[in-house]
Amino acid sequence: MESRAINFGAGPSALPTSVLQEATKGLLNFNGTGMGIAEISHRSKEFTAYLQSVEQNIRKLLDIQPTHSILFTQGGGSTQFSAVVLNMLARHRLLHPQLTDEDRVLDYVVTGSWSKKAAEEARRMGGSTVNIAADSRKYSKDQKSFDNIPTADAYSFSNDPALIYYCANETVDGVEFSAEENSPASFPFQLLPRNALLPLVGDYSSSFMSRPIPHLSDHAIIYAGAQKNVGPAGLTILIVRNDCIVDVDAAARLGAIPVPICLSYKTLADHNSLYNTPPVLSIYITGLVLEYMLQLGGLDYYAGLTNRKSKKVYDVLKYGENKGIFKGKVKEGSGSQMNIVFDVIGEGLLAKFIAGAEERGMKGLKGHRSVGGVRVSIYNAVTEEETDLLISYMEQFAGQHK
Ligand code: PMP
Repeated sequence: MESRAINFGAGPSALPTSVLQEATKGLLNFNGTGMGIAEISHRSKEFTAYLQSVEQNIRKLLDIQPTHSILFTQGGGSTQFSAVVLNMLARHRLLHPQLTDEDRVLDYVVTGSWSKKAAEEARRMGGSTVNIAADSRKYSKDQKSFDNIPTADAYSFSNDPALIYYCANETVDGVEFSAEENSPASFPFQLLPRNALLPLVGDYSSSFMSRPIPHLSDHAIIYAGAQKNVGPAGLTILIVRNDCIVDVDAAARLGAIPVPICLSYKTLADHNSLYNTPPVLSIYITGLVLEYMLQLGGLDYYAGLTNRKSKKVYDVLKYGENKGIFKGKVKEGSGSQMNIVFDVIGEGLLAKFIAGAEERGMKGLKGHRSVGGVRVSIYNAVTEEETDLLISYMEQFAGQHK
């Protein structure tokens, strides 16, 4: 095999080499069927059994109870920006048919460009009032950057919202809610209105399976596109509390926005995620990644790995900051463990940093076009050894240029 690059890309991103090698076998002959995984019927007994095992492994890894269903769909995280709104508005309509659109409130916590987009989509869908429960830009250095996770006093939640939305890890801006219960940067679960089952929706697209999900059982919906930590693009994984799988047509008869059939969680649930053809190949590779993760020790192992890798990168960033060569873009304590963003200070030095990394086989380090600088994405398949190579390079670069 030709040598592979070290892939620090933000997504689609690195997958474990051994999994990809295994996947090439499945492309030719899936589980002894004599047919490749991209060629076999999604209704074959071999594939349906495989799909069940993928579900079981997600349950095992995240310790998901029967209160929640696991659904597989397509369309990526962006499609869920609309789908969560439609399904949760339908649920709220069934619970409170008499409310006006004005009184049907959706609470959005905006901490970065993805949650901002999600809130904009909610507004575009109509049928409700979007309340920004917190906007982290207010607390930023320049009043316009998504550079922090606000402390608890920044939030104001509505009394009985149809949904409460947050994005666990902002992939572009590099801020993430902390997994530590007592951190000032953790999600303020203690402030949520507890007068009904929580309509809490979490976008976990870019931190899914990097560590356990705090308060998982309190969530109405958790969703994630597969293409960061667990597989190729094309598959979206949904964890939906069973009371959020509602008869959307009955809700529409009461005035709710009609839900396109493939966006309805009830359609997905009633057909075991096989109402239409699912992304078979993406599910297959995701299944192999999950098996691999379980073999290595599950989320205990990955949480430890994630902590070690990210701490080392933040440490070398600090070293470069002290030398005046690097400057982290986010507030201390708010930084993501998956996507670490920083500037390289000095004329032409950012380009030099990226070029030097490329020469060393390290790719995908350029920051998102909206924020610039460097973005280091250290998803699960980026090994500790690969992270160490980047760290030595950062250290060397900081030493050479100051
Ligand atoms: N949410 C987050 C946190 C993301 O990182 C992304 C994609 N990078 C999305 C949503 C949108 O996902 P998709 O491209 O799968 O629609």
